[in-house]
Amino acid sequence: MAVVFDIDKDPKRPRHPEKAHRPDQPIQRKPDWIRVKAPGSPQWAETNRIVKEHKLVTVCEEAGCPNVGECWEKKHATFMIMGDTCTRACSFCNVRTGLPAPLDADEPRKVADAVEKLGLSHVVITSVDRDDLADGGADHFARTIAEIRAASPNTTIEILTPDFLRKEGALEHVVAARPDVFNHNLETVPSKYLTVRPGARYFHSIRLLQRVKELDPTIFTKSGIMVGLGEERNEVLQLMDDLRSADVDFLTIGQYLQPSKKHHPVLRFVPPEEFKSLETVALSKGFLLVSASPLTRSSHHAGEDFARLKAARLARS
Ligand code: SF4
Repeated sequence: MAVVFDIDKDPKRPRHPEKAHRPDQPIQRKPDWIRVKAPGSPQWAETNRIVKEHKLVTVCEEAGCPNVGECWEKKHATFMIMGDTCTRACSFCNVRTGLPAPLDADEPRKVADAVEKLGLSHVVITSVDRDDLADGGADHFARTIAEIRAASPNTTIEILTPDFLRKEGALEHVVAARPDVFNHNLETVPSKYLTVRPGARYFHSIRLLQRVKELDPTIFTKSGIMVGLGEERNEVLQLMDDLRSADVDFLTIGQYLQPSKKHHPVLRFVPPEEFKSLETVALSKGFLLVSASPLTRSSHHAGEDFARLKAARLARS
């Protein structure tokens, strides 16, 4: 479980100041079908060493991802650039909120160095929301892609970006850097945006994904949602249609898990057979690839999924 006050780092600095006054939401016991590998193997320790040595932030740690034991054992870490503090305050997210520090201009090079040391064939780069920056951090994304390309030309690059809301020209700048996969998560159905993702706009996010394809049809597009936040099945099916209208290739669906008692409660643990059914429906709607399971996360198995995406595109051509 994650913490709301990060007393290890700074006793006076709450991790989620906007959530501190909220009433407690009891955390439900996880069902038997949600079981994960505990971190701590020698390979996990090696990944941890490289991440710490380069002073990098990972979403695996900041989001309290349940798959960190499995992923880090395979040296799959998802780097979170532009700091550890987010300017939004989504009710599901465990990433620290507040006013971020200035950008580290050397971070793109440090990330590229870590990718090279880890010997990654596929890397996922995400970031906090940086509404405080004029370009929302678009140039930092573009520079990180360029540095990784220069250091590891055979590594494929997947980015998981914020929505660049009200940041004119930002999306175009990132797309021009030519990532292999452009991921932007919808997170939930539109009726839940006000309570789950209040700073975002559903149709802006759909349009962003559509625009990526218009600008460069060779880039794979990807989006993900969590279930268990109170959404109706019909709303999820409509969301699938909205993503297909935007020509999105890959959909991920995973179970929402509550990071702390100050976060949005889990309203339902969706059983594995319902994930299977959503996967079947989504595939019938034309996605190239769908990953739906309780522990599916945007970056989980991203390397293997990239190979499957390429094969699926080839099979359709
Ligand atoms: S699923 Fe993604 S965020 Fe979670 S541990 Fe794996 S790489 Fe990190």
